[in-house]
Amino acid sequence: MRLASTRVADARKYTLGRVFDDVDKARHYAASIKQYVLDNLAPLLTQFEDNCRANGITVHWASTAEEARKIILQLCRENSDPGATIVKGKSMATEEIHLNPTLVEAGFDVVETDLGEFVVQIDGDTPSHIVAPIIHKSRIQVAQSFQREKLGPYSEVPETLAMQAREHLRTKFQQASIGISGVNFGIAESGRIVIVENEGNNRLSTTTPKVHIALMGIEKILPRESDLPLFLRLLAGSATGQKLTVYTHLIHGPRCPEEIDGPDQIHLVMLDNGRTRVLNGPYREILRCIRCGACLNSCPVYRHSSGHAYGHVYSGPVGAVLAPAMEGVEAMGELAKASTLCGSCEEVCPVAIPIPAMLLRLRNEATAAGSTNSGIPWQVVASLAKNDRLWRAALILLPLATKLPSPWSKVRSNPERVGRDFRRWFRGRP
Ligand code: SF4
Repeated sequence: MRLASTRVADARKYTLGRVFDDVDKARHYAASIKQYVLDNLAPLLTQFEDNCRANGITVHWASTAEEARKIILQLCRENSDPGATIVKGKSMATEEIHLNPTLVEAGFDVVETDLGEFVVQIDGDTPSHIVAPIIHKSRIQVAQSFQREKLGPYSEVPETLAMQAREHLRTKFQQASIGISGVNFGIAESGRIVIVENEGNNRLSTTTPKVHIALMGIEKILPRESDLPLFLRLLAGSATGQKLTVYTHLIHGPRCPEEIDGPDQIHLVMLDNGRTRVLNGPYREILRCIRCGACLNSCPVYRHSSGHAYGHVYSGPVGAVLAPAMEGVEAMGELAKASTLCGSCEEVCPVAIPIPAMLLRLRNEATAAGSTNSGIPWQVVASLAKNDRLWRAALILLPLATKLPSPWSKVRSNPERVGRDFRRWFRGRP
């Protein structure tokens, strides 16, 4: 996982340096556009809604995750047979509202069609990265999952595995009556929905079924069409080191009578789920986030811990701010401690979000709210550190401590102690 994150981080630097004459100028210009969006969100949302409706897109508003789930479930029930197949493109917003369990419980055959999300689904796992959901898995683990699911003869060759998934999913696209997707950008000026991807599965999910349901966070607005090229390049470069993603879908509305394919209906569900609260609070700049994942790839803590250790759908530096900002420091304030405050997240962020300053503020808030639960371990360390004998004894016992369960044991194994004993080396040096 560390290797994959490092590779993407290097590719980001290389590509953005080639795409923009001045990367920092581009980042700060993008930040100013997103800040304008946050400062004018209400009128921009009204403009976006009006233009969507004029384009034939039905707009729904959901103030909570539960409301969003209810709306989508109702739309699925109204527009398909019981037990029908629903194909889904990759969407962190649908992960955020835990949509799949609701649809499965209602009897639908929900199929994730992004390759990474598909593996997550068949393994009963959760994504560990907002862009690369199975960054924590090896090729061999994926091969074993495919063998278990009888998707084809055992193979560890990535191309073969992709073809096996493709064959399996192709039938699902043909059967599906509903397609569900996320949204990367909504353009207020035109009422267009923009979705970017690399696999083509979103294209099939949004055009093959008769009904397309898109779930979009209310902060995903861009004011003008002319803003899009900057954001498309910043997003692709920051997320995967590409100049542009392989596919960019500009969805204007349902199928016109003269078109041979495309959905008859498009429903856009606008999700608040705590965003208004964030907008009105001290962490509002985190809503500039375009979910590129660059801060995860550059974060030394994320690289070691993996996304699952954060215990929230949004992991890494962005999650460490977004989760407590949306759900409260009482519930999620601990996440702000999962940082060295090295500043690399802010440095790579394409919309220049001051994440380290926010993490410091969150730490203070969490402490003031008494929500930190690490008091006892730190008190133990402090007592040991004040007594030389006890400290030495503790160091001797340290290897045993790594065998004990830790708060992260469920998702990560404790690191093995490696290398020599520093004190012994220090004493014995020439
Ligand atoms: S906070 Fe910035 S770097 Fe992190 S995912 Fe969001 S846009 Fe990307």
